[in-house]
Amino acid sequence: MNYYKYIPIDVVNGPGTRCTLFVCGCEHHCKGCYNQATWPFDAGFPFGEDQEDRIISDLNDTRIHRRGLSLSGGEPLHPRNVPALLHLVRRIRTECSPVKDIWLWSGFVLDELNAEQRQLIDLVDVMIDGKFVLELKDPKLDWRGSSNQVIHEFDRSNAWWKKQG
Ligand code: SF4
Repeated sequence: MNYYKYIPIDVVNGPGTRCTLFVCGCEHHCKGCYNQATWPFDAGFPFGEDQEDRIISDLNDTRIHRRGLSLSGGEPLHPRNVPALLHLVRRIRTECSPVKDIWLWSGFVLDELNAEQRQLIDLVDVMIDGKFVLELKDPKLDWRGSSNQVIHEFDRSNAWWKKQG
Protein backbone atom coordinates (compact mmCIF):
# COMPACT_ATOMS: atom_id res chain seq x y z
CA MET A 1 0.00 0.00 0.00
CA ASN A 2 1.07 3.57 -0.64
CA TYR A 3 -0.07 6.58 1.33
CA TYR A 4 -0.58 10.06 -0.02
CA LYS A 5 -0.31 12.13 3.15
CA TYR A 6 -0.05 11.73 6.89
CA ILE A 7 -1.22 14.54 9.19
CA PRO A 8 0.05 14.00 12.75
CA ILE A 9 -2.12 16.76 14.28
CA ASP A 10 -5.48 17.14 12.56
CA VAL A 11 -8.61 18.91 13.81
CA VAL A 12 -10.61 18.69 10.56
CA ASN A 13 -11.10 15.02 9.68
CA GLY A 14 -13.19 13.73 12.57
CA PRO A 15 -13.86 14.85 16.14
CA GLY A 16 -11.16 16.23 18.42
CA THR A 17 -7.45 16.24 17.68
CA ARG A 18 -6.44 13.25 15.60
CA CYS A 19 -3.87 11.63 13.36
CA THR A 20 -5.06 11.27 9.77
CA LEU A 21 -3.74 8.95 7.08
CA PHE A 22 -4.72 9.37 3.43
CA VAL A 23 -4.03 6.16 1.52
CA CYS A 24 -3.49 5.85 -2.24
CA GLY A 25 -5.67 3.99 -4.69
CA CYS A 26 -9.33 4.47 -5.51
CA GLU A 27 -11.38 3.05 -8.37
CA HIS A 28 -14.69 4.73 -7.53
CA HIS A 29 -13.76 7.85 -9.52
CA CYS A 30 -16.60 9.95 -8.12
CA LYS A 31 -17.43 13.04 -10.15
CA GLY A 32 -16.13 16.07 -8.23
CA CYS A 33 -13.82 14.01 -5.99
CA TYR A 34 -11.90 16.35 -3.69
CA ASN A 35 -8.79 14.17 -3.75
CA GLN A 36 -8.16 12.86 -7.26
CA ALA A 37 -4.41 12.88 -6.72
CA THR A 38 -4.92 9.84 -4.48
CA TRP A 39 -6.52 7.69 -7.21
CA PRO A 40 -3.36 5.97 -8.55
CA PHE A 41 -2.14 3.10 -6.39
CA ASP A 42 1.45 4.12 -7.05
CA ALA A 43 1.05 7.76 -5.99
CA GLY A 44 2.57 8.98 -2.74
CA PHE A 45 4.94 6.91 -0.68
CA PRO A 46 5.26 3.28 0.40
CA PHE A 47 3.61 2.57 3.74
CA GLY A 48 5.58 0.26 6.01
CA GLU A 49 6.63 -0.46 9.56
CA ASP A 50 8.31 2.95 10.01
CA GLN A 51 5.04 4.72 9.24
CA GLU A 52 3.14 2.36 11.56
CA ASP A 53 5.63 3.09 14.36
CA ARG A 54 5.27 6.84 13.80
CA ILE A 55 1.46 6.74 13.98
CA ILE A 56 1.47 4.62 17.13
CA SER A 57 4.07 6.86 18.73
CA ASP A 58 1.99 9.95 17.89
CA LEU A 59 -1.18 8.36 19.28
CA ASN A 60 0.65 7.47 22.50
CA ASP A 61 2.29 10.90 22.84
CA THR A 62 1.12 12.27 26.18
CA ARG A 63 2.17 15.85 25.33
CA ILE A 64 -0.55 16.21 22.70
CA HIS A 65 -3.71 14.26 23.39
CA ARG A 66 -5.00 12.71 20.17
CA ARG A 67 -8.43 11.20 20.39
CA GLY A 68 -7.81 8.75 17.56
CA LEU A 69 -6.94 7.96 13.98
CA SER A 70 -8.80 8.87 10.79
CA LEU A 71 -8.35 6.69 7.70
CA SER A 72 -9.24 8.32 4.41
CA GLY A 73 -8.01 8.42 0.86
CA GLY A 74 -8.15 7.20 -1.68
CA GLU A 75 -10.03 4.07 -0.70
CA PRO A 76 -9.01 2.47 2.60
CA LEU A 77 -11.25 -0.52 1.88
CA HIS A 78 -9.88 -1.29 -1.57
CA PRO A 79 -8.77 -4.96 -1.42
CA ARG A 80 -5.22 -3.86 -2.21
CA ASN A 81 -5.15 -1.61 0.87
CA VAL A 82 -7.01 -3.72 3.42
CA PRO A 83 -4.11 -6.02 4.48
CA ALA A 84 -1.80 -3.12 5.37
CA LEU A 85 -4.54 -1.26 7.24
CA LEU A 86 -5.58 -4.40 9.09
CA HIS A 87 -2.00 -4.73 10.29
CA LEU A 88 -1.88 -1.09 11.39
CA VAL A 89 -5.25 -1.14 13.15
CA ARG A 90 -4.49 -4.41 14.98
CA ARG A 91 -1.31 -2.83 16.29
CA ILE A 92 -3.20 0.25 17.42
CA ARG A 93 -5.69 -1.94 19.26
CA THR A 94 -2.94 -3.72 21.17
CA GLU A 95 -0.31 -0.97 21.56
CA CYS A 96 -2.24 2.25 22.18
CA SER A 97 -3.33 3.30 25.63
CA PRO A 98 -5.72 4.83 26.49
CA VAL A 99 -7.97 3.35 23.80
CA LYS A 100 -8.17 5.43 20.62
CA ASP A 101 -11.17 5.82 18.36
CA ILE A 102 -10.72 4.97 14.69
CA TRP A 103 -12.81 6.55 11.94
CA LEU A 104 -12.77 5.33 8.33
CA TRP A 105 -14.14 6.94 5.16
CA SER A 106 -15.01 4.68 2.22
CA GLY A 107 -16.72 4.87 -1.15
CA PHE A 108 -18.11 1.38 -0.54
CA VAL A 109 -21.33 1.02 1.42
CA LEU A 110 -21.45 -1.10 4.54
CA ASP A 111 -23.79 -3.75 3.12
CA GLU A 112 -21.55 -4.59 0.15
CA LEU A 113 -18.34 -5.33 2.04
CA ASN A 114 -16.65 -8.69 1.69
CA ALA A 115 -15.31 -10.75 4.60
CA GLU A 116 -11.84 -9.22 4.58
CA GLN A 117 -13.16 -5.67 4.43
CA ARG A 118 -15.46 -6.51 7.34
CA GLN A 119 -12.49 -7.69 9.39
CA LEU A 120 -11.17 -4.15 9.18
CA ILE A 121 -14.53 -2.52 9.86
CA ASP A 122 -14.93 -4.76 12.94
CA LEU A 123 -11.91 -2.94 14.39
CA VAL A 124 -13.04 0.63 13.76
CA ASP A 125 -15.51 2.74 15.71
CA VAL A 126 -17.06 4.77 12.92
CA MET A 127 -17.43 4.22 9.18
CA ILE A 128 -18.66 6.94 6.84
CA ASP A 129 -19.76 5.10 3.73
CA GLY A 130 -20.79 5.76 0.15
CA LYS A 131 -19.40 7.48 -2.90
CA PHE A 132 -19.34 11.25 -3.14
CA VAL A 133 -22.30 12.37 -5.27
CA LEU A 134 -21.78 15.86 -6.63
CA GLU A 135 -25.51 16.49 -7.08
CA LEU A 136 -26.02 15.72 -3.37
CA LYS A 137 -23.09 17.80 -2.15
CA ASP A 138 -23.90 19.67 1.06
CA PRO A 139 -21.19 21.67 2.84
CA LYS A 140 -23.34 21.87 5.98
CA LEU A 141 -23.00 18.14 6.68
CA ASP A 142 -20.68 17.01 9.44
CA TRP A 143 -17.93 14.63 8.29
CA ARG A 144 -19.63 13.96 4.93
CA GLY A 145 -19.43 15.53 1.50
CA SER A 146 -22.83 14.49 0.14
CA SER A 147 -26.14 13.56 1.74
CA ASN A 148 -26.19 9.95 0.44
CA GLN A 149 -23.26 9.11 2.70
CA VAL A 150 -24.07 7.53 6.06
CA ILE A 151 -22.23 7.76 9.38
CA HIS A 152 -22.23 4.34 11.03
CA GLU A 153 -21.28 4.53 14.70
CA PHE A 154 -20.63 1.03 15.99
CA ASP A 155 -21.08 0.01 19.61
CA ARG A 156 -17.63 -1.25 20.61
CA SER A 157 -18.25 -1.21 24.37
CA ASN A 158 -17.61 -4.96 24.57
CA ALA A 159 -14.70 -4.99 22.16
CA TRP A 160 -11.66 -7.02 23.24
CA TRP A 161 -9.35 -4.05 23.03
CA LYS A 162 -11.40 -2.22 25.66
CA LYS A 163 -10.96 -5.09 28.12
CA GLN A 164 -7.18 -5.13 28.01
CA GLY A 165 -4.81 -3.74 30.60
S1 SF4 B 1 -14.39 7.33 -2.97
FE1 SF4 B 1 -13.45 9.21 -2.15
S2 SF4 B 1 -11.36 9.24 -2.99
FE2 SF4 B 1 -12.53 7.76 -4.19
S3 SF4 B 1 -13.27 8.94 -5.97
FE3 SF4 B 1 -14.90 8.97 -4.41
S4 SF4 B 1 -14.55 10.86 -3.22
FE4 SF4 B 1 -12.65 10.42 -4.39
